[in-house]
Amino acid sequence: MRTSIATVSLSGSLTEKLTAASRAGFDGVEIFENDLLASPLTPEEIRARCADLGLTIDLYQPMRDIEAVPEDEFARNLRRARHKFELMRRLGTDTVLVCSSVSPLALDDDALAAAQLSRLADLAQDFGVRVAYEALAWGRHVSTYDHAWSIVEAAGHPALGTCLDSFHILSRGSDPKGIEDIPGEKIFFLQLADAPLLAMDVLQWSRHYRCFPGQGGFDIAGLLRHVVRAGYDGPLSLEVFNDVFRQAEAGPTAVDARRSLLVLQESIGLTTLPQPVVPTGVAFAELVTPDAEPVAAVLGALGLARTARHRSKPVDLWERGEARVLVNTGPAARRDGTGLAAIGLESPDPAGAALRAEALLAPVLPRRRAPEDAPLDAVAAPDGTELFFCATGRPELPNWRADFEPIKDAGTTSAGEDTAGGVARIDHLALTQPWHHFDEAALFHRSVLGLHGQESVDVADPYGLFRSRAVTGPGGSVRIALAVGPAPTEDETRAQHIALATDDVVAAARRFRAAGGQLLPMPANYYDDLAARYDLTEGELAAYRELGILYDRDAHGEFRHCYTRTVGRVFFELVQRDPGHQGYGAQNAPVRLAAQHAQRPRR
Ligand code: MG
Ligand code: MG
Repeated sequence: MRTSIATVSLSGSLTEKLTAASRAGFDGVEIFENDLLASPLTPEEIRARCADLGLTIDLYQPMRDIEAVPEDEFARNLRRARHKFELMRRLGTDTVLVCSSVSPLALDDDALAAAQLSRLADLAQDFGVRVAYEALAWGRHVSTYDHAWSIVEAAGHPALGTCLDSFHILSRGSDPKGIEDIPGEKIFFLQLADAPLLAMDVLQWSRHYRCFPGQGGFDIAGLLRHVVRAGYDGPLSLEVFNDVFRQAEAGPTAVDARRSLLVLQESIGLTTLPQPVVPTGVAFAELVTPDAEPVAAVLGALGLARTARHRSKPVDLWERGEARVLVNTGPAARRDGTGLAAIGLESPDPAGAALRAEALLAPVLPRRRAPEDAPLDAVAAPDGTELFFCATGRPELPNWRADFEPIKDAGTTSAGEDTAGGVARIDHLALTQPWHHFDEAALFHRSVLGLHGQESVDVADPYGLFRSRAVTGPGGSVRIALAVGPAPTEDETRAQHIALATDDVVAAARRFRAAGGQLLPMPANYYDDLAARYDLTEGELAAYRELGILYDRDAHGEFRHCYTRTVGRVFFELVQRDPGHQGYGAQNAPVRLAAQHAQRPRR
């Protein structure tokens, strides 16, 4: 189906919005009246600009407070409408949105509403315009889609149809099944928006919290199925009012928007995309750093050994067990400082994974490699993290490890030696997102990588709110914790971390410290509280207190973890997770965040 987006969903000037919509691959736009009013372009210039960008103008919106009013008021409304229909002719668009009245003058009189909408449609017809009547969830007398349809049906005018808006329908708790009773050709337009499930005033909810399909709690796919069954064949159009998008750059928002529609259409079989190839594990995490020494010191103390060096790039491989960390001192590091730049995902079909990513508008990365290096398929996540798809269990495919030359006399990587407290693998990677990319990131990782999204968790940070949502592969094979913290302009808060799994976090923490590593100290009050909440032995509690180990437990088991000091924008976590436990220590996050803030140099 054709895709469209309302200009109100994007930030910037009208020109910027149109350009962003076109670049993201939308077929059309809804022109929001205020965007036109504020634009220096004439309607003819806007029309030409859209044509140049390959965009149709699918809707002009909104016209408000038209129907079911006293005759003198309605005469004034018709006069206003005539001006707008003339404008629409200049714009070259043929459908106008009329929302149900919120005016105190509006009467609770469906017959009057139908008669006046019919007269409006008569006038519209003279200009080649169709009127799409939409029930606002907070309309004065008409607030449900079936009510709006009954008025349209009663009017029986060929230039009058209805506009369905998923937010207005689902926020009222209406049953969307009844949409199938509306003849498809009378559904003049379909606007789609999701929203988180909130208990609040519906107007405020709509104006500030709408989001793209798949990013909230509504069953948009279920609603769309009913609309398609009704026979609707117009565009799928996004109309999203959201405080975040108002401030975020239009280009990435438009891409996020279009991706949401692709995923939505795929979910109900309206389009076919390359199948997701779910990653089966983490091949490596790649750190970039201008100075390898501090990173090497932490990795060494954690028990990882430098085992190999890249043949053509300044990249070292550190590993122990299945935990592999690349340390890259190349050009990116000099630009960005120490940070987590890339993740290698084990994939049974790297080319297939890249194809799906590309179909879902993920930027495919140019290969920065020497001719003899293994070609790796890679895409960029919304936060810029590079995702490499690494062939696993496919000996015939190029393997990233082949690019690394083993270092002679590198320390052993665990075989044979005392493994108590040894690091076994990467438990999870935590990627702090730019504040305006959080919902986009979750949808990206779910749809592009086929990972499962866990519940979003909000925790208190001493200087704001910290929100986190994990995406995971089957059996926890891949765990990525996406987070967004306070102070959006402070880049330092965009810390990433690598959590390493161990079967004995007390032993691991002791080894780390004995090897010169510094653990993040936790306040004594935390342990007093732990003693109150859980029946831990004195010895256990004393060890946790001494080492700064945090503890959590749920019905599925226990979770113990501790943190290293931060290097650049990266820190490490040691994790001892019972197999059934799916959490990340959200309970403990406020204490950990406060401890990290306390460690940070004051500026
Ligand atoms: Mg709407
Ligand atoms: Mg963590």
